[in-house]
Amino acid sequence: MGKNRAIAWAVVVAAGEGVRFRRGPFAGGPRKPFAPLAGRPILLRTLEAVAACPDIERVVVVVAADDVPAAESLLAFDRERLRIASVVPGGARRQDSVAAGLARVPEDVEIVAVHDGARPLVNPELFTKSIEDAARCGAAVVAVPVVETLKRIDTPKGTGERADALLVETVDRSRLWAAQTPQTFRASDLRRLLAEAQREGVHVTDDASLFERAGLTVEPVPGERRNLKITAPEDLEMAEALIRAASRGDVRVGTGNDIHRLVPAAETGRKLVICGVEIESDLGAEGHSDADAACHAVIDALLGACALGDIGRLFPDTDPAFKDADSIKLLEDATAKVRDAGFEPQSVDVTVLLEKPKLAPRVDEMRRNLARATGLAQAAVSVKAKTSEGLGPVGEGKAVEAHAVAVVSAP
Ligand code: MG
Repeated sequence: MGKNRAIAWAVVVAAGEGVRFRRGPFAGGPRKPFAPLAGRPILLRTLEAVAACPDIERVVVVVAADDVPAAESLLAFDRERLRIASVVPGGARRQDSVAAGLARVPEDVEIVAVHDGARPLVNPELFTKSIEDAARCGAAVVAVPVVETLKRIDTPKGTGERADALLVETVDRSRLWAAQTPQTFRASDLRRLLAEAQREGVHVTDDASLFERAGLTVEPVPGERRNLKITAPEDLEMAEALIRAASRGDVRVGTGNDIHRLVPAAETGRKLVICGVEIESDLGAEGHSDADAACHAVIDALLGACALGDIGRLFPDTDPAFKDADSIKLLEDATAKVRDAGFEPQSVDVTVLLEKPKLAPRVDEMRRNLARATGLAQAAVSVKAKTSEGLGPVGEGKAVEAHAVAVVSAP
């Protein structure tokens, strides 16, 4: 942060009802902030875009009261990375939610950028620009010129029913802009104006209107049409297409490794499973699932290539569902996550370290299992087996270890 920069926080509001969103294909599905957009929840993508702006020091997330636990668990692993200060319940109206978020912003913060949780495609530079403008003028609103021809349509009795619509006139759009977010303000002014609106019972649809009402300057910041707000399910399709288009041809590499302790099979009933192949041995691998270290390394490599976290996050070993789980099945699930995120596995290479027995005779079976689970051709899957020459825990026959590399690309 430059030395002349004002201290700026963001308040991300995602507390709306999402009424338009929940019609059609999303009826009964996840609530809007948690609906997947190219494999990642909309809210998470938005917070990643906010965190990509180095000028935002911390972020307060406002969600519907019912969604607080879900948001907390969504962000559990990412609070530091996304610089989350707190997750708070919002109110009935947008301004109530903004006020709830603002209440968590410390008094010494000079600038607050309010951003819609449903605008995941925001360019982080818009935050920088609006923070500069708000520091200078007091308030800045990102907006884009209206491109559609606008018609004012009046309906008898104001019912909004299309059959009764009377087209009255074309509106001159030359001076009309559509407001987006971020909307960025001097924090002290926003606090005061929100409190005033509250006292006077004034309802506004966006925060900049509070400044306009008070006769204060609001600086327009030219926005981008791709900074769309996901309101209806079709917006999700558009956002997804934009994300996919931006990542087309993107090639990523991930690495993974894993180690499991070996224990006497007879006493423990543990088996030695490697890439889904049960190996005949008087030692078994200890673990919550089937303890298939090679599969686990491949899963981490695939997830890592897509920056989707790791196996412990996807399949927690505190979850009884994964007790004795078939790791080939977990690999199938991880592959589905990779595809949801817009990537296709291209190749996998895994090295298994085991002192004995020799794995070479079973390597082709292992490759077949990995290929089947990942949807790869067997030629794109490599399994190599080595010993540790008597050295370390593997060499002493106390462990089985695996290292993997995976390549994925966006089609
Ligand atoms: Mg493991």
